[in-house]
Amino acid sequence: MVKVNENFLKLPGNYLFSEIAKKVKIFQEKHRESNLIRLGIGDVTLPIAPAVIEAMHKAVDEMGQKESFHGYAPDLGYEFLRNTIAKKVYGALGCEIFADEIFVSDGAKSDSGNIQEIFGVDNRIAVCDPVYPVYVDTNVMAGRAGEYSKETEQWSNVIYLPCSAENHFVPELPKETPDLIYLCFPNNPTGSAVTKDQLQVWVDYANKMGSVIIYDAAYEAYITEENVPHSIYECEGARTCAIELRSFSKNAGFTGVRLGYTVIPKDLVRGGVALHSLWARRHGTKYNGAPYIIQRAGEAVYTDEGQAQVKEQIAYYMRNAKVILEGLKSAGFSATGGVNAPYIWLKTPGSMTSWEFFDYLLEKANVVGTPGSGFGPGGEGYFRLTAFGTYENTVEAIERIKRL
Ligand SMILES: *Cc1c(COP(=O)(O)O)cnc(C)c1O
Repeated sequence: MVKVNENFLKLPGNYLFSEIAKKVKIFQEKHRESNLIRLGIGDVTLPIAPAVIEAMHKAVDEMGQKESFHGYAPDLGYEFLRNTIAKKVYGALGCEIFADEIFVSDGAKSDSGNIQEIFGVDNRIAVCDPVYPVYVDTNVMAGRAGEYSKETEQWSNVIYLPCSAENHFVPELPKETPDLIYLCFPNNPTGSAVTKDQLQVWVDYANKMGSVIIYDAAYEAYITEENVPHSIYECEGARTCAIELRSFSKNAGFTGVRLGYTVIPKDLVRGGVALHSLWARRHGTKYNGAPYIIQRAGEAVYTDEGQAQVKEQIAYYMRNAKVILEGLKSAGFSATGGVNAPYIWLKTPGSMTSWEFFDYLLEKANVVGTPGSGFGPGGEGYFRLTAFGTYENTVEAIERIKRL
């Protein structure tokens, strides 16, 4: 008799987005004429930049010609894209990252979920609380998280790094020593960012303890402040302790197109083994590469034209972020984020829970957001609004919230 992977059965249902959809549907059935504004989405809404679309069209045509047809892509990605990333991303930041340390993929969600496979099952992970749920759930599936407690909403073998207003949503070093440390800055859901000095503390710690940092930089394009690093490799010593995950989803609107990459420096060695070689083996065995057409699209993001166009899109979202952040503050809310990230994280008023505030905002302002408690117990009492709506809707939503 076949046995299922029972680790999957340990996962509590993730009701966050289905519960939101259900509540919104009930509301809409009751109030047919209401003008609902959705600021809960974590997905881009602007269309893909023209320079990128042009490159995709060209690549599509190439696929239709015998001379320029492309079959399987190289395991680790086409050189034209890896060279472009090495030069235009890391070279521009002054980081020493080589093209053959870059593994092209279909996105940062799959990479952040899959990367744990190259580590032993008895490693202990540390995650921020609140957190992007993929990091935890994939470790649960692998049998690394221990048991779930309904009371604490925590896993017995996971080290939690609380992120709250007290520490400005930047975690402190843990008392227990983790093996794998997941960090995501600029952060989803809190919108917080770390300074280079703050990140250097983590790099030094990981090197000292022999831990590995998995650094999710999916939102680096939203950074507006000078002292906030775009890559963990801006920190000294990161080549010996950090893996970086990158995505084209939020910086170039590729959420429906799918492209990302993972960087593993060859100097990152644990137990005498270069992690680069394990991920190369894993990639070669389980993955056949992002499509040629999409890798050409990714290359076009880094042309002068492409850069100008995607920067304009990000500026559009960040103008929304400013409207939300300043509007909430002037309405008396305590709110953070929105300066280096498209997310604004606000404290619910009084003693309202995240879900009570969700209902209140839906009923009274017809605005949909995301309850912070959906990202872990540390998110209780907080609420996330996103800058991915239209400017007009964002302004209108904030006007309504101010009138509450
Ligand atoms: C959106 C997001 C990603 C990007 O995922 P893709 O699979 O590349 O679309 C990665 N990490 C976090 C925290 C995100 O919010």
